[in-house]
Amino acid sequence: MPKKEDVNDSCAPPGSVPAGVAVDEGERACLLCSGKMYFAKELRVHVCLNKDHGVLAYYSLDECYFTSQEKAAVMLAKEGKKFHMIEPSVLQMIGVEP
Ligand SMILES: [Zn+2]
Repeated sequence: MPKKEDVNDSCAPPGSVPAGVAVDEGERACLLCSGKMYFAKELRVHVCLNKDHGVLAYYSLDECYFTSQEKAAVMLAKEGKKFHMIEPSVLQMIGVEP
Protein backbone atom coordinates (compact mmCIF):
# COMPACT_ATOMS: atom_id res chain seq x y z
CA MET A 1 0.00 0.00 0.00
CA PRO A 2 1.19 3.56 -0.63
CA LYS A 3 2.38 5.56 2.29
CA LYS A 4 -0.34 7.62 3.88
CA GLU A 5 1.33 9.69 6.56
CA ASP A 6 0.72 12.92 4.67
CA VAL A 7 -3.00 12.33 4.42
CA ASN A 8 -5.05 14.77 6.41
CA ASP A 9 -7.89 12.80 7.91
CA SER A 10 -9.89 15.93 8.65
CA CYS A 11 -10.75 16.20 4.96
CA ALA A 12 -14.42 16.38 4.23
CA PRO A 13 -15.77 13.62 1.98
CA PRO A 14 -17.12 14.49 -1.47
CA GLY A 15 -20.72 15.56 -1.37
CA SER A 16 -20.42 17.06 2.10
CA VAL A 17 -20.06 20.65 0.97
CA PRO A 18 -22.71 22.69 2.73
CA ALA A 19 -25.25 24.34 0.46
CA GLY A 20 -24.23 27.84 -0.42
CA VAL A 21 -20.50 27.20 -0.32
CA ALA A 22 -18.93 28.12 -3.61
CA VAL A 23 -16.96 25.38 -5.30
CA ASP A 24 -14.68 25.95 -8.23
CA GLU A 25 -16.58 24.36 -11.09
CA GLY A 26 -14.20 25.51 -13.75
CA GLU A 27 -12.22 23.33 -16.07
CA ARG A 28 -9.25 21.68 -14.52
CA ALA A 29 -6.38 19.69 -15.96
CA CYS A 30 -5.79 16.25 -14.49
CA LEU A 31 -2.68 16.07 -12.36
CA LEU A 32 -1.81 12.59 -13.61
CA CYS A 33 -2.51 12.74 -17.34
CA SER A 34 -3.11 16.46 -18.05
CA GLY A 35 -6.45 15.51 -19.56
CA LYS A 36 -9.55 17.59 -18.99
CA MET A 37 -11.46 16.76 -15.82
CA TYR A 38 -15.21 17.19 -15.82
CA PHE A 39 -17.24 18.48 -12.91
CA ALA A 40 -19.60 16.00 -11.24
CA LYS A 41 -22.27 18.36 -9.95
CA GLU A 42 -23.92 15.93 -7.50
CA LEU A 43 -20.77 15.42 -5.47
CA ARG A 44 -19.09 18.66 -6.49
CA VAL A 45 -15.86 17.00 -7.46
CA HIS A 46 -13.79 17.06 -10.62
CA VAL A 47 -13.38 13.68 -12.27
CA CYS A 48 -10.95 12.25 -14.82
CA LEU A 49 -11.80 8.90 -16.36
CA ASN A 50 -8.52 8.18 -18.13
CA LYS A 51 -8.07 4.40 -18.09
CA ASP A 52 -4.29 4.83 -17.83
CA HIS A 53 -4.61 5.85 -14.21
CA GLY A 54 -8.16 4.79 -13.38
CA VAL A 55 -10.86 7.09 -12.09
CA LEU A 56 -9.49 10.12 -10.29
CA ALA A 57 -11.68 12.58 -8.42
CA TYR A 58 -10.53 15.94 -7.10
CA TYR A 59 -12.28 17.85 -4.38
CA SER A 60 -11.20 21.46 -4.79
CA LEU A 61 -12.50 22.67 -1.44
CA ASP A 62 -10.05 20.46 0.43
CA GLU A 63 -7.54 20.04 -2.40
CA CYS A 64 -7.94 16.30 -1.94
CA TYR A 65 -7.77 13.59 -4.56
CA PHE A 66 -9.78 10.40 -4.47
CA THR A 67 -8.88 7.19 -6.22
CA SER A 68 -9.68 3.50 -6.00
CA GLN A 69 -6.51 2.57 -7.88
CA GLU A 70 -3.31 1.89 -6.03
CA LYS A 71 -1.15 2.94 -8.96
CA ALA A 72 -2.83 6.36 -9.03
CA ALA A 73 -2.37 6.64 -5.27
CA VAL A 74 1.34 5.94 -5.70
CA MET A 75 1.61 8.73 -8.29
CA LEU A 76 -0.30 11.15 -6.04
CA ALA A 77 1.95 10.30 -3.10
CA LYS A 78 4.97 10.97 -5.31
CA GLU A 79 3.55 14.40 -6.15
CA GLY A 80 3.04 15.10 -2.46
CA LYS A 81 -0.72 15.50 -2.87
CA LYS A 82 -3.37 14.76 -0.30
CA PHE A 83 -5.44 11.78 -1.36
CA HIS A 84 -7.80 9.14 -0.09
CA MET A 85 -8.34 5.61 -1.25
CA ILE A 86 -12.05 5.13 -1.80
CA GLU A 87 -14.23 2.12 -2.46
CA PRO A 88 -15.33 1.48 -6.04
CA SER A 89 -18.91 1.78 -4.79
CA VAL A 90 -18.26 5.43 -3.99
CA LEU A 91 -17.18 6.02 -7.58
CA GLN A 92 -20.36 4.35 -8.75
CA MET A 93 -22.24 6.94 -6.71
CA ILE A 94 -20.60 9.57 -8.89
CA GLY A 95 -21.86 7.59 -11.85
CA VAL A 96 -18.61 6.08 -13.11
CA GLU A 97 -17.13 2.61 -13.16
CA PRO A 98 -13.80 2.27 -11.37
ZN1 LIG B 1 -6.28 11.98 -15.77
